[in-house]
Amino acid sequence: MRFFFREYTDIDSSIIVKNHVHKTGSIIEQQRAVFLDRDGVINVNHGYVHDQENFEFIDGIFEVARAAHASGYKLVVITNQSGIGRGYYSEKQFNQLTTWMCGKFSKAGAPIEKVYFSPFHPTEGYGAYRKDDDSRKPRPGMILQAQREMNLNLESSILIGDNLSDIQAGIAAGVGQNILFVKKQPLKLSGQYYKAITNLREVLPFMDSR
Ligand SMILES: [Mg+2]
Repeated sequence: MRFFFREYTDIDSSIIVKNHVHKTGSIIEQQRAVFLDRDGVINVNHGYVHDQENFEFIDGIFEVARAAHASGYKLVVITNQSGIGRGYYSEKQFNQLTTWMCGKFSKAGAPIEKVYFSPFHPTEGYGAYRKDDDSRKPRPGMILQAQREMNLNLESSILIGDNLSDIQAGIAAGVGQNILFVKKQPLKLSGQYYKAITNLREVLPFMDSR
């Protein structure tokens, strides 16, 4: 028993030393993310977009995504897709479009790490899709799942959405910077917990490289 204890202590202290050595390096640091809503941030929201023909990329999105990637942020898409639950299109169609979309980001030098989607709707979904699910924004489920799966530091992460429900989800999850992308900036729209922008490129100063 004593031998085991000593061995264990040695191993334990070596881990502590190791952690100390790498504390300021990138090895054990948590990752940061830029969370992107899809409809209204990545593509123009024409309403329940589910094919390439109607997928119109928003001006500046690749520039912002490339800058985020270059600064070490993981790109994570979080999108409500109640169109699936409402029966307007299938998960398969959504996945095909997502694969195509992610290909465009990769080619632009801004690979998307993961795409989270919530197909549910509390009253309009059919079958198993009729559910008041934690994943559906304004709830923070998708963000918290991403945090767990990628060990993200939410406090130093950024969220970009075009609806207040995006911002609410970000705040509820503890995302440090929540940015509301709107067509026209009404007075006093930027509050204590979020900033409003009218051009995606206005996000660039919020990113720091380290
Ligand atoms: Mg949106």
